[in-house]
Amino acid sequence: MSVKTAEDLFQESLTATLSLFKRIKPKLERNEDFKALLAELMKGLEESERAYRETGAYLVCRECARLSRHTCCGHDMELEVSRELLIVNLFLKANLPQKRSFPEACFFLGPQGCTLLARPILCRNFFCPWFKERLPIEKLKYIQIRQEKEIISLFKLINHLKTLLFRVDHSY
Ligand code: SF4
Ligand code: SF4
Repeated sequence: MSVKTAEDLFQESLTATLSLFKRIKPKLERNEDFKALLAELMKGLEESERAYRETGAYLVCRECARLSRHTCCGHDMELEVSRELLIVNLFLKANLPQKRSFPEACFFLGPQGCTLLARPILCRNFFCPWFKERLPIEKLKYIQIRQEKEIISLFKLINHLKTLLFRVDHSY
Protein backbone atom coordinates (compact mmCIF):
# COMPACT_ATOMS: atom_id res chain seq x y z
CA MET A 1 0.00 0.00 0.00
CA SER A 2 1.51 3.36 -1.03
CA VAL A 3 1.83 6.03 1.65
CA LYS A 4 -0.10 9.22 0.97
CA THR A 5 1.88 12.41 0.76
CA ALA A 6 0.84 15.69 2.39
CA GLU A 7 -0.05 16.87 -1.13
CA ASP A 8 -2.38 13.85 -1.64
CA LEU A 9 -4.11 14.58 1.66
CA PHE A 10 -4.49 18.26 0.80
CA GLN A 11 -5.95 17.38 -2.63
CA GLU A 12 -8.37 14.93 -1.00
CA SER A 13 -9.61 17.52 1.47
CA LEU A 14 -9.97 20.04 -1.35
CA THR A 15 -12.05 17.60 -3.41
CA ALA A 16 -14.19 16.80 -0.36
CA THR A 17 -14.83 20.51 0.28
CA LEU A 18 -15.72 21.14 -3.39
CA SER A 19 -18.25 18.33 -3.23
CA LEU A 20 -19.62 19.53 0.13
CA PHE A 21 -19.99 23.03 -1.30
CA LYS A 22 -22.12 21.72 -4.20
CA ARG A 23 -24.43 20.05 -1.68
CA ILE A 24 -24.81 22.99 0.69
CA LYS A 25 -24.82 25.91 -1.77
CA PRO A 26 -28.65 26.03 -2.04
CA LYS A 27 -28.88 25.96 1.75
CA LEU A 28 -26.42 28.86 2.03
CA GLU A 29 -28.32 30.84 -0.59
CA ARG A 30 -31.43 30.60 1.59
CA ASN A 31 -29.65 31.41 4.84
CA GLU A 32 -30.29 35.07 5.65
CA ASP A 33 -27.75 35.20 8.50
CA PHE A 34 -25.03 33.79 6.24
CA LYS A 35 -25.83 36.36 3.54
CA ALA A 36 -25.87 39.25 6.05
CA LEU A 37 -22.50 38.19 7.49
CA LEU A 38 -21.09 37.80 3.99
CA ALA A 39 -22.24 41.33 3.11
CA GLU A 40 -20.48 42.59 6.25
CA LEU A 41 -17.31 40.76 5.19
CA MET A 42 -17.45 42.32 1.72
CA LYS A 43 -17.53 45.79 3.29
CA GLY A 44 -14.60 44.86 5.52
CA LEU A 45 -12.63 43.55 2.54
CA GLU A 46 -13.26 46.76 0.62
CA GLU A 47 -12.01 48.81 3.54
CA SER A 48 -8.83 46.75 3.88
CA GLU A 49 -8.18 46.86 0.13
CA ARG A 50 -8.56 50.63 0.16
CA ALA A 51 -6.04 50.91 3.01
CA TYR A 52 -3.55 48.73 1.11
CA ARG A 53 -3.93 50.89 -1.99
CA GLU A 54 -3.85 54.26 -0.17
CA THR A 55 -0.69 53.44 1.76
CA GLY A 56 1.16 51.91 -1.22
CA ALA A 57 1.40 48.58 0.61
CA TYR A 58 0.37 46.68 -2.52
CA LEU A 59 3.27 48.24 -4.42
CA VAL A 60 5.71 46.95 -1.79
CA CYS A 61 4.40 43.38 -2.14
CA ARG A 62 4.30 43.68 -5.93
CA GLU A 63 7.94 44.76 -5.95
CA CYS A 64 8.78 41.84 -3.68
CA ALA A 65 7.15 39.42 -6.16
CA ARG A 66 8.81 41.16 -9.13
CA LEU A 67 12.22 40.69 -7.56
CA SER A 68 11.36 36.99 -7.05
CA ARG A 69 12.17 37.28 -3.38
CA HIS A 70 11.18 34.36 -1.22
CA THR A 71 7.71 35.73 -0.50
CA CYS A 72 5.44 34.95 2.42
CA CYS A 73 3.13 32.80 0.19
CA GLY A 74 5.22 29.69 0.75
CA HIS A 75 4.44 25.99 0.44
CA ASP A 76 2.06 24.69 3.16
CA MET A 77 0.44 28.10 3.67
CA GLU A 78 -2.61 26.52 1.98
CA LEU A 79 -3.08 24.59 5.24
CA GLU A 80 -4.16 27.90 6.82
CA VAL A 81 -7.25 27.82 4.59
CA SER A 82 -9.97 26.03 6.55
CA ARG A 83 -12.83 24.31 4.75
CA GLU A 84 -15.13 27.09 5.98
CA LEU A 85 -12.88 29.75 4.46
CA LEU A 86 -12.71 27.77 1.24
CA ILE A 87 -16.52 27.58 1.15
CA VAL A 88 -16.73 31.36 1.61
CA ASN A 89 -14.39 31.76 -1.38
CA LEU A 90 -16.35 29.29 -3.49
CA PHE A 91 -19.53 31.19 -2.64
CA LEU A 92 -17.81 34.42 -3.73
CA LYS A 93 -16.85 32.69 -7.01
CA ALA A 94 -13.09 32.96 -6.46
CA ASN A 95 -11.20 31.60 -9.44
CA LEU A 96 -9.26 28.88 -7.64
CA PRO A 97 -6.38 27.00 -9.30
CA GLN A 98 -6.83 23.40 -10.45
CA LYS A 99 -3.29 22.60 -9.44
CA ARG A 100 -0.29 24.22 -7.74
CA SER A 101 1.18 26.90 -10.02
CA PHE A 102 4.59 27.11 -8.32
CA PRO A 103 6.21 24.09 -6.65
CA GLU A 104 7.60 26.08 -3.71
CA ALA A 105 4.53 28.25 -3.15
CA CYS A 106 1.13 28.11 -1.52
CA PHE A 107 -1.43 26.14 -3.57
CA PHE A 108 -3.62 29.25 -3.86
CA LEU A 109 -0.93 31.49 -5.31
CA GLY A 110 -1.54 32.15 -9.01
CA PRO A 111 0.50 34.13 -11.55
CA GLN A 112 -1.43 37.29 -10.61
CA GLY A 113 -1.14 36.77 -6.84
CA CYS A 114 -3.46 35.16 -4.32
CA THR A 115 -6.54 33.62 -5.95
CA LEU A 116 -8.60 33.78 -2.77
CA LEU A 117 -10.98 36.68 -2.21
CA ALA A 118 -11.21 36.11 1.55
CA ARG A 119 -7.79 35.14 2.90
CA PRO A 120 -6.61 33.63 6.14
CA ILE A 121 -6.06 36.23 8.87
CA LEU A 122 -2.41 35.23 9.04
CA CYS A 123 -1.95 36.28 5.41
CA ARG A 124 -3.70 39.58 6.02
CA ASN A 125 -1.86 40.83 9.06
CA PHE A 126 1.60 39.44 8.38
CA PHE A 127 4.10 42.23 7.79
CA CYS A 128 7.53 40.83 6.91
CA PRO A 129 10.71 42.79 7.86
CA TRP A 130 11.21 43.87 4.22
CA PHE A 131 7.67 45.28 4.17
CA LYS A 132 8.08 47.00 7.54
CA GLU A 133 11.32 48.65 6.40
CA ARG A 134 9.50 50.21 3.45
CA LEU A 135 6.40 51.60 5.15
CA PRO A 136 6.42 54.09 8.02
CA ILE A 137 4.94 52.95 11.32
CA GLU A 138 1.92 55.29 10.89
CA LYS A 139 0.96 53.51 7.68
CA LEU A 140 1.37 50.08 9.25
CA LYS A 141 -0.89 51.14 12.13
CA TYR A 142 -3.39 52.61 9.69
CA ILE A 143 -3.57 49.33 7.74
CA GLN A 144 -4.10 47.35 10.94
CA ILE A 145 -6.92 49.63 12.11
CA ARG A 146 -8.63 49.52 8.71
CA GLN A 147 -8.41 45.70 8.69
CA GLU A 148 -10.46 45.35 11.86
CA LYS A 149 -13.83 45.14 10.12
CA GLU A 150 -12.58 42.39 7.79
CA ILE A 151 -11.08 40.38 10.63
CA ILE A 152 -14.12 40.62 12.92
CA SER A 153 -16.65 39.92 10.16
CA LEU A 154 -14.61 36.98 8.85
CA PHE A 155 -14.44 35.52 12.36
CA LYS A 156 -18.21 35.81 12.75
CA LEU A 157 -18.90 34.33 9.31
CA ILE A 158 -16.55 31.37 9.85
CA ASN A 159 -18.15 30.62 13.21
CA HIS A 160 -21.62 30.75 11.69
CA LEU A 161 -20.52 28.35 8.95
CA LYS A 162 -18.97 26.00 11.48
CA THR A 163 -22.33 25.74 13.24
CA LEU A 164 -24.12 25.09 9.95
CA LEU A 165 -21.57 22.48 8.87
CA PHE A 166 -21.72 20.78 12.25
CA ARG A 167 -25.41 20.14 11.58
CA VAL A 168 -24.63 18.90 8.04
CA ASP A 169 -21.82 16.63 9.32
CA HIS A 170 -24.11 15.12 11.94
CA SER A 171 -27.27 14.68 9.83
CA TYR A 172 -28.00 11.11 8.79
S1 SF4 B 1 4.53 40.66 3.07
FE1 SF4 B 1 6.72 40.71 2.66
S2 SF4 B 1 7.25 38.68 1.86
FE2 SF4 B 1 5.04 38.93 1.72
S3 SF4 B 1 4.71 39.68 -0.40
FE3 SF4 B 1 4.77 41.46 0.99
S4 SF4 B 1 6.88 42.15 0.95
FE4 SF4 B 1 6.86 40.05 0.14
S1 SF4 C 1 -2.09 35.23 0.61
FE1 SF4 C 1 -3.09 33.59 -0.55
S2 SF4 C 1 -1.46 32.70 -1.79
FE2 SF4 C 1 -0.48 33.85 -0.13
S3 SF4 C 1 -0.17 32.36 1.49
FE3 SF4 C 1 -2.11 33.38 1.88
S4 SF4 C 1 -3.63 32.02 0.93
FE4 SF4 C 1 -1.66 31.48 0.08
